[in-house]
Amino acid sequence: MRPETRLVHTETPRPTGTPLAVPLYQTSGFSFDDLETFADGMGRPDGAFVYTRMGNPTVRTLENAVADLEGGAAGLAAASGMGAIGSVLHGVLRTGDHVVAQRDLYGGTHALLRDLAERWGVTVTRVSGHDPDELRAALGPRTRLLYLETIANPAGHVSDLAALAAVAREAGVLVVVDNTFATPLLCRPVEHGADVVVHSTTKYLAGHSDVIGGVAVFADAALHREVWEHAVEYGATADPFAAWLTLRGLRTLPLRMRAHCANAEVLAHRLAAHPAVAAVHWPGLPDHPSHEVAARLLSGCGGTFSFDLVGGRAAGEAFVGALRLVKPAPSLGGTETLVLHPASTSHRRLDEAELRASGIAGGTIRLSAGVEHVDDLWDDLANALP
Ligand SMILES: *Cc1c(COP(=O)(O)O)cnc(C)c1O
Repeated sequence: MRPETRLVHTETPRPTGTPLAVPLYQTSGFSFDDLETFADGMGRPDGAFVYTRMGNPTVRTLENAVADLEGGAAGLAAASGMGAIGSVLHGVLRTGDHVVAQRDLYGGTHALLRDLAERWGVTVTRVSGHDPDELRAALGPRTRLLYLETIANPAGHVSDLAALAAVAREAGVLVVVDNTFATPLLCRPVEHGADVVVHSTTKYLAGHSDVIGGVAVFADAALHREVWEHAVEYGATADPFAAWLTLRGLRTLPLRMRAHCANAEVLAHRLAAHPAVAAVHWPGLPDHPSHEVAARLLSGCGGTFSFDLVGGRAAGEAFVGALRLVKPAPSLGGTETLVLHPASTSHRRLDEAELRASGIAGGTIRLSAGVEHVDDLWDDLANALP
C-alpha cells in the first residue's frame, strides 16, 4: 500500500508483559470483527468497550478503583464532580419528586437543586444534617432522595450518616453522599447506609490540581446501569486522559491524606491559639459542633477547614494579600496549600447579613492544607496575621 494508507493504518504491537503503569487508551472508539459483540457493548455499561463516551478501559480502571475503595458495586466516572452529581440527580429524579438536602452544600450542588426545583418541578426541603427527627419530619410521600455531604464546607459540619441513612432507608428514600472532603480513606458512606457516593476527583483523589473530574459509586449495580444511561445521553462521562491523571494521583492518596490531615491538625491548633483568630472550624477541635460525630464517623478530620479572623472583611483581604507561599485559589485538595476568602471572591455579592446566613463571616478564610513542611506553612500564615 501507499504511504497515505500505511500512515493511517499503523499497528500497535500487543505487549506480552503487563505494563507497570495504567495504559492510556486515548481513543474515541474500538473496531470489531464481530458485530454481535459490537452491538451488545452499545447497550450496557459492562459489555465490550465500543465508544469512549459509553466506556473506555482507562476510565473503567478508575471507576473500579474508586468503587473498590468505597466498597460499592460499580463506579461511573464523569467529566467533573458536577458531571457526576448531575448525572445521579437527573438519572434518579422525576418531576414531582421531593428531595431532602443538607443546608450547607457545595455551591454548585445548591445551584443544581435550585434549577431542578425551578425548571423540573422537583421540590426541595433543607435540613441541618445532624438530627434524625428533623429528617423524619421532612419526609413525605413523594420523597425520593436524601442528599448529604460527609464533611461540609466551610464550617466543617459532619453529617451523622448512619443515623440519617437509617431513617431514609426505613422510608425507602435513596441516600446520596458527597464524600469529596473525607475521601474513602476517612469515611466509606456505603458502610453507613448510603446508596450512592459522589466525588469531585478534582480535589483529593486526583490531588495535584491538574485535572477536573468526578466519580459516582453505587452500592447497587442496577442503579449504576440506570444512571449510566443518563450520563451517556448527556455526555457527562470522563475523558481517558483525565481518568489517567486521576489514577496516577490515586496511587499516593493514602500518603497525601496523612500529610494533609496532619498539617491541618497542626495549623488548626496554632491558629486557634492566635489572638488575631476569632474561631477555627475544624471538626478535630474539641469545641467544634461536629466533634463527637466526627470522632465516631471519620478516621481523620480532613485537610480543609476554615477560620474567622478578628476584624472582618478588611482583615480577610489584608491577610490573603500578605501571604507569600500560600496562594489564594478556588480549589482544594492539591499538594500545595491554598486559601479562599469567600467574602471577597466566591461570595462577594453578599452583604454581611447574607454572609452570616450562609455561615460565612467577612473575615472567614478557607484553608486547604497541602503536603509542604508544616513549619514553612505556619511561618507564612503567622507572618500574614496582624
Ligand atoms: C469541587 C466540589 C464539587 C464539584 O466538583 P467539580 O469537579 O468542580 O465539578 C462538588 N462537591 C464538592 C464538595 C466539591 O468540593
